[in-house]
Amino acid sequence: MAEADSTTVEETLKQQATETTDGFHLVIDALKLNDIDTIFGLVGIPITDLARLAQAEGMRFIGFRHEQHAGNAAAIAGFMTQKPGICLTVSAPGFLNGLTALANATTNCFPMILISGSSEREIVDLQQGDYEEMDQLNAAKPYAKAAYRVLHAEDIGVGVARAIRAAVSGRPGGVYLDLPAKLLAQTLDAVKAQQSLIKVVDAAPRQLPAPDSVKRAIDVLKSAKRPLILLGKGAAYAQADAEIRAFVEQSGIPYLPMSMAKGLLPDTHEQSASAARSFVLLEADVVVLIGARLNWLLSHGKGKTWGAEPKKFVQVDISPTEIDSNVAIAAPVIGDIGSCVAALRAGLDAGFRKPGTEWTGAIAERKNKNLAKMAATLDKNPSPMNFHSALRAIRDVLKTRPDINVVNEGANTLDYARSIIDMYEPRKRFDSGTWGIMGIGMGFAIGAAVTSGKQVVAIEGDSAFGFSGMELETICRYDLPVCTIVFNNNGVYRGTDVNPTGGKDVAPTVFVKGARYDKMIEAFGGIGHNATTPEELTKALLEAIASGKPTLINAVIDEAAGTESGRLTNLNPQSAAMKK
Ligand code: ADP
Repeated sequence: MAEADSTTVEETLKQQATETTDGFHLVIDALKLNDIDTIFGLVGIPITDLARLAQAEGMRFIGFRHEQHAGNAAAIAGFMTQKPGICLTVSAPGFLNGLTALANATTNCFPMILISGSSEREIVDLQQGDYEEMDQLNAAKPYAKAAYRVLHAEDIGVGVARAIRAAVSGRPGGVYLDLPAKLLAQTLDAVKAQQSLIKVVDAAPRQLPAPDSVKRAIDVLKSAKRPLILLGKGAAYAQADAEIRAFVEQSGIPYLPMSMAKGLLPDTHEQSASAARSFVLLEADVVVLIGARLNWLLSHGKGKTWGAEPKKFVQVDISPTEIDSNVAIAAPVIGDIGSCVAALRAGLDAGFRKPGTEWTGAIAERKNKNLAKMAATLDKNPSPMNFHSALRAIRDVLKTRPDINVVNEGANTLDYARSIIDMYEPRKRFDSGTWGIMGIGMGFAIGAAVTSGKQVVAIEGDSAFGFSGMELETICRYDLPVCTIVFNNNGVYRGTDVNPTGGKDVAPTVFVKGARYDKMIEAFGGIGHNATTPEELTKALLEAIASGKPTLINAVIDEAAGTESGRLTNLNPQSAAMKK
């Protein structure tokens, strides 16, 4: 026996010494070693075998019809899990398609890694005209938090480790990893190769706030008469849900969630000031920003939204350079949100008083008034449906299923749904985000369905849906529980514009009238519904959710409903001639 054993050991050692591996295997090994189990992408030269191998090695490869949507899926997976979502593309055009999603991820602080195959350095650098030649690394740099290229297979472990750390540490963002075709085919000794891999330890280290910064913030809070907490999607990302809720409740301070922070506390929470948004932004004297930036979504912290009296801001953020980006911040608290909010909560000592009823009562009064007004609007039943009556139907169904993921984009469809659809659980609402972009719909829906394994309802304007509509095939191919509702009012904003010349071409904002988007999903084996009343919409949505099947509901909306640019009319310069 002993002899046999030693022979086996010898043989194994000999075999190991002669065994080789290659770049393809090492990339997959490096990702798997770091608990990454899914790749979103689109195959082609030179990464087809990488996708095949990922699947063969037990990873999930979700193949898309366009790289931008694969990238968006990866980005939202990153937001949901705090692990970088991976998007894999071919070179040049495929890379550029993915780059839009990478830039969007960086802008939104979502961790993702765009991995693209590229052509040979020697030819690219001399610009000799290779197949899909492009200097991808340099193209990616301005739009990524970090960008790396790996030239030697023994550096793949380091490259993947650096990409993971860059994506998730500090302020999360998009990272580009460039893998030239030659690298993937490089072979090296299997034992040495395994030793070159790195399992990243503590990829996003906690960052404790300085005690004096916490004290300064508490002092500002103590001076407040009309304090307000603003929760942003950074707070949702941080997964410090219990700590944030405890801080809000213990302080008694009213709060406003930004759209992707909705559900961090249920929207029905009595301290939610959402229904009195304009009032609290105008009237608050101290505002505590938690994972929210004072960008255009908050009118840059100044102007008529915020009133004439200067506010004092406390800002909790992981990024020190965010502070003072738009207005002066009286008390920056720099660190991870979990640690910062815990420290602030501990600082709510005997000297802190909850806001008085003068403030909370005024908010409640405003809220009740606005809610009653909204209820009256929502109760109307115009024919054809308008945004409100359709959203009422959806709201009533979703109220019964707080676990459902909601994706939302469009102009009017986004603006109305954001305020009408209540959220009850954190990280369940995914929308146009920091750029306010269209085109995230099906990518986010697929990413959310794959990542959570749960039902997704995507509430889409007809224009917004058009950007990613072909991914319905992807949804059907992977049999994902995604119900897409297209708010079809025949055009961008609305469908009533006319060509002033009387020419054959329709107006720039107009689509095919009476289009049946439900037929699109039927082409791929999904279930289509056409809904012309709130009752039909409710029935179709309930059926879709019960089936868990790929479904599309064409919700027919009055083509005259909808305003130009939704609520962003102020950002839309109009020519004097057009105003006439
Ligand atoms: P919203 O659009 O919802 O207002 P933003 O995307 O503007 O939110 O802001 C998110 C902020 O959260 C960013 O400034 C980012 O640096 C910060 N952030 C993200 N993750 C964390 C974290 N774990 N801890 C602290 N701050 C974070």
